[in-house]
Amino acid sequence: MERKPATERKTSQRSALLKAFESAGRPLRPQEALALARPLASGLGIATVYRNLRTLAGQGVLKPVHLPGDSTVRYELCGKAHHHHFHCLRCHQVFEVDGCPGNIEPLVPKGFVLEGHEVVLYGQCPACRPTRRKSEMPSTKSETKSKKKKPKS
Ligand SMILES: [Zn+2]
Ligand SMILES: [Zn+2]
Repeated sequence: MERKPATERKTSQRSALLKAFESAGRPLRPQEALALARPLASGLGIATVYRNLRTLAGQGVLKPVHLPGDSTVRYELCGKAHHHHFHCLRCHQVFEVDGCPGNIEPLVPKGFVLEGHEVVLYGQCPACRPTRRKSEMPSTKSETKSKKKKPKS
């Protein structure tokens, strides 16, 4: 029976996990990370994944992503530009949303100091949303038009 030294095995499991996060480009649940990393690291199991995710988070390589109303902890790579997330309520995959609505300051009550914010979009991802016949057209134009019609009081 050939046995790799424990340290070497740990390293390859961790690098397999990191590769999984890099290729996914979105926050992963431990089960998702396992599914993506397993082909890269033989003998990887869910307990090992949990342990490695915690270790990598402790090292500042990964960070936990908590979503409101969802107790599942997901992880994503640290060091990304400021971004937000889209939570698919059907398949519970979480996707990255580039950019930020910004201009949060007017919401901050007087006397309060803002130190950060979270914006979570949720709904259905393209794979989960009901298929439509052809109206795949970007609807931004009509939306902005109707929004502009808000009555000014
Ligand atoms: Zn989905
Ligand atoms: Zn933001």
